[in-house]
Amino acid sequence: MSYTGPESEPPKQRRSWRVPIVVAGGALVAGGLVGWGAYAAGGGAGEDAAKPAGRSAPAAAPGADDKAAAPLAGKVVVIDPGHNVDNFRHPAEINRQVDVGNGRKECDTTGTSTNDGYPEARFTLDVAHRLRALLERQGATVRLTHDEKGPEWGPCVDERAAIGNKAHADAAISIHADGAPAGDRGFHVILPGAVHAGGADTRPIVGPSRALGERIASDFRRVTGEPPSNYIGHGTALDTRTDLGGLNLSTVPKVFIECGNMRDTKDAALLTSETWRQKAAQGMSEGIVSFLRGS
Ligand code: ZN
Repeated sequence: MSYTGPESEPPKQRRSWRVPIVVAGGALVAGGLVGWGAYAAGGGAGEDAAKPAGRSAPAAAPGADDKAAAPLAGKVVVIDPGHNVDNFRHPAEINRQVDVGNGRKECDTTGTSTNDGYPEARFTLDVAHRLRALLERQGATVRLTHDEKGPEWGPCVDERAAIGNKAHADAAISIHADGAPAGDRGFHVILPGAVHAGGADTRPIVGPSRALGERIASDFRRVTGEPPSNYIGHGTALDTRTDLGGLNLSTVPKVFIECGNMRDTKDAALLTSETWRQKAAQGMSEGIVSFLRGS
């Protein structure tokens, strides 16, 4: 929880401001200092739109940083860390069948782990915390479906969907890592297919969920460098499914992301790296921000 993100701009900016001050002399000193002060006061972290771009920064009007600092004000994002680190202690509860609209599924599953024993549920919670911090910095209201001090198992997949629905989330994401055979590599985003059965009706969310998923896939790939899955989605990093309760029962735009394959040693080296997990969260965050801002 001590991570602060990959910000490294302030030292670089401070250096670049000194140059015009020295070269141009007294007349520009005031402007330069005002510019730097405004940037520093704005926090200088996380607000992409607020980053000063060379000499244009001093011209920014007072208050511009404040607006840019909370581009997601009023937006609600629900993050669903896949599985639960204690699910394995509660087989009876998590094996209970729940209605997912077009069928019945287990309440929840234990998830996978790397060959060295790093559990998927630990990974998903860690990335969820990082993603929450990034989105809150953008002004979003963020809710997790469960957390370390929450329930000792689950919640069930139907409840995970219900949490996003009740929160009227503008976007929801369920974070996972896969347990495929070694050699299967890469990430993919799972989109809800059209399901209209029982208590499920995904038809209104199919379109917006795809838009959300495409943005997340694009930004996740760019920020992490992780390739699209070589075993699902034919290189598109996208897969559509109609068998996941967490998607079937959602009434808000929602996707799953499988960040990599825990059973592949190359992917496992990334998934177990704190630095990489921060990048993973950053990629997801940028995709969500892009979707919510309609850009
Ligand atoms: Zn999973």
